[in-house]
Amino acid sequence: MTTPALALDNAVIRYDRLTAVDGVSLEVRRGETLGLVGESGCGKSSVARTIAGLQSLASGTLTVDGEVLRTLPSKRRLDAQRKIQLLFQDPTASLSPRMTVGSLLAEPLKIRRVHTPESRAQIVALAESIGLGAQLLSRYPHQLSGGQARRVALVRALAAEPSIIVADEPTAGLDISIQGELLNLLRSLRDRLGLSYLLISHNLNVIGRVTDRVAVMYLGQIVESGPTAALFRYPAHPYTRALLSANLTLDPSRQSQRIVLSGELPSPSNPPSGCRFHKRCPLAQPRCASDIPALRAGEAGRSVACHFPLTAEPVVSGPQAIAG
Ligand code: SF4
Repeated sequence: MTTPALALDNAVIRYDRLTAVDGVSLEVRRGETLGLVGESGCGKSSVARTIAGLQSLASGTLTVDGEVLRTLPSKRRLDAQRKIQLLFQDPTASLSPRMTVGSLLAEPLKIRRVHTPESRAQIVALAESIGLGAQLLSRYPHQLSGGQARRVALVRALAAEPSIIVADEPTAGLDISIQGELLNLLRSLRDRLGLSYLLISHNLNVIGRVTDRVAVMYLGQIVESGPTAALFRYPAHPYTRALLSANLTLDPSRQSQRIVLSGELPSPSNPPSGCRFHKRCPLAQPRCASDIPALRAGEAGRSVACHFPLTAEPVVSGPQAIAG
């Protein structure tokens, strides 16, 4: 079996006494796009920040190209960490407002001490190839559109020569046509440069369109994972089914299948006993309040954490495609 580009094993992420992520394992295979979905506050962004090196693991391991990061000497750890680049949800927040686009694109080369005329020309050519023309190089971040700012952030990330891109809500706030363009761009760059992606989004249309596999998070844990097409068509976990059915507002003919979850996402500081979803689950049984369901591997690369998983009957047609 090929070594995955990235693996997170039994990760626990804490902020003071709050456990935001509790025992999450996932792997991103080479050349694939793994989607991570779930409601706001479920721990997705904490996973992204930890993989990008902005947050420490309380326990568990992060492995890049088969090397466990925390066991590496500091120089090799930095090199391994550089292979992972994070695209922030708000790209303008990650771009210094006092620097022009040209300076912003040159900065990663200076940090890596490879700022030669040739490397700069390569970055400018890369920027032009993805639609950032030379006329934009003298502009400041506040003079860019949302789509342009994301492209600048993307070129900066690529200047570090990563093998893995973690994209946190990459299309948030963009018009639907710009979303489509950006997703097409991400896909073509992945194929052209041999990248692997972890794509984090609450937007199931985005996940359905560009990911190969998907992992569903609920209250700091993975509750289901598998190939995207199969998981969207035959969700086995009641929470996945509810997420997918909520998306049917785009398809009024399927309103009757909609499952409306009761209550809010509980606080991770005081998660429910047993199955963390039991207080909102329409299929909960007495056992669910006391016994924690393990994430069990099933057939065809599927895994689910539920005592009473749904059977394989198509309940939704899957999200609508984004134009582009
Ligand atoms: Fe629902 Fe029980 Fe399955 Fe949890 S274990 S998702 S409460 S049926």
